[in-house]
Amino acid sequence: MSEAHSIVVLAGDGIGPEIVGATRQVLNRIGSFDYKEHLIGGISIDENGTALTEGVIDDCRTSDAVLLGAVGGPKWDEVVARDPQAPRPEQGLLGIRKALGLYANLRPVKPSAALIGSSPLKEDRIRGTDLLVVRELTGGIYFGESGRDGDTAHDDCAYSVVEIERIARTAFEAARQRAVGRQAGPRVTSVDKANVMETSRLWRETVKAVAVDYADVELDHMLVDNTAMQLVSRPTDFDVIVTENLFGDILSDEAAMLTGSLGMLPSASIGGEGEPGLFEPVHGSAPDIAGQGVANPLATMLSAAMMLRYGLDLPAEADRIESAVDAVLDSGLRTPDLFTGSEGETEAGTSEVTSAVLAELA
Ligand code: NAD
Repeated sequence: MSEAHSIVVLAGDGIGPEIVGATRQVLNRIGSFDYKEHLIGGISIDENGTALTEGVIDDCRTSDAVLLGAVGGPKWDEVVARDPQAPRPEQGLLGIRKALGLYANLRPVKPSAALIGSSPLKEDRIRGTDLLVVRELTGGIYFGESGRDGDTAHDDCAYSVVEIERIARTAFEAARQRAVGRQAGPRVTSVDKANVMETSRLWRETVKAVAVDYADVELDHMLVDNTAMQLVSRPTDFDVIVTENLFGDILSDEAAMLTGSLGMLPSASIGGEGEPGLFEPVHGSAPDIAGQGVANPLATMLSAAMMLRYGLDLPAEADRIESAVDAVLDSGLRTPDLFTGSEGETEAGTSEVTSAVLAELA
């Protein structure tokens, strides 16, 4: 790596500083980065009276990537309960997503071999699953006009060609990146309801048109109801799934359960070409265990791996972190949230797990 990439670090509240601190140690082992630390969420409300300041937004906009811990906690919930107009920590998160124009949410699903028994699904079905859900984040029914007329309610679903094109490109590019160094070629499954919905027919047409630029990527189309079924019956057949906001919301949670451990899940939200992405664990600020040194830092480390792969174009470095995390889980080391007391497991705190990941990267 020649130049130092600039990363804005927003540790946030609760366990945020612990898991982000652990992840920074891992990043420092991988390369040299130029960090800017800022407040977000509850701690920013305490210091600045708002969950996100303009200065933080400006620094995020000019960075290469943003790494976030988590925001929120009962302290601020209680204030809001007394005064609904009071600032809320979550406003920081929604504010930064909006300010950076993050239109694609990427959620990889790859059950760790060591944790495969944690899934509610049969091991032989999920072993070998390695897929990525690419969900459109800023369009569709969640942002359409909605309203009520007497005993009738409506939510309109709209998509433009531009919105579909950019998310399709994100999916094709992600498929290419995932296939680097892999035997199987890149594949994209575009999910819609084209047999019923007009937005889905436009979706399918547009994805097909974009695919012309990605002749090396195999493309297939699947109806959303069939996908919901196929995800649990043959998850190993998927590579990249790209879909609109509502379908993606549902399918990404369904796919997450293939791993059985939501606390291990990373995520990435991507904006326009050349714009910084936001990388964060799926879990929250876990105020019940904050400050105890027992938080599981692995979802944040895996989010940093996504940052390297999708935000900074450093896929080999991303692979190294993911392999190190796998190796630590294989060794049986477990933070309390993963510890079951089974033979071969050793219970460990945040710093022990972090040291073990660092040792794997040595
Ligand atoms: P949570 O994910 O914070 O915690 C749920 C349970 O999982 C808790 O028992 C917690 O101890 C455990 N847990 C979560 N992450 C863990 C980790 N890394 N290691 C070990 N255990 C972990 O969800 P919650 O309790 O519903 O919410 C707590 C706060 O977090 C709330 O204020 C909520 O609004 C906020 N929240 C923030 C985000 C975010 O910042 N993206 C997401 C969800 C919730």
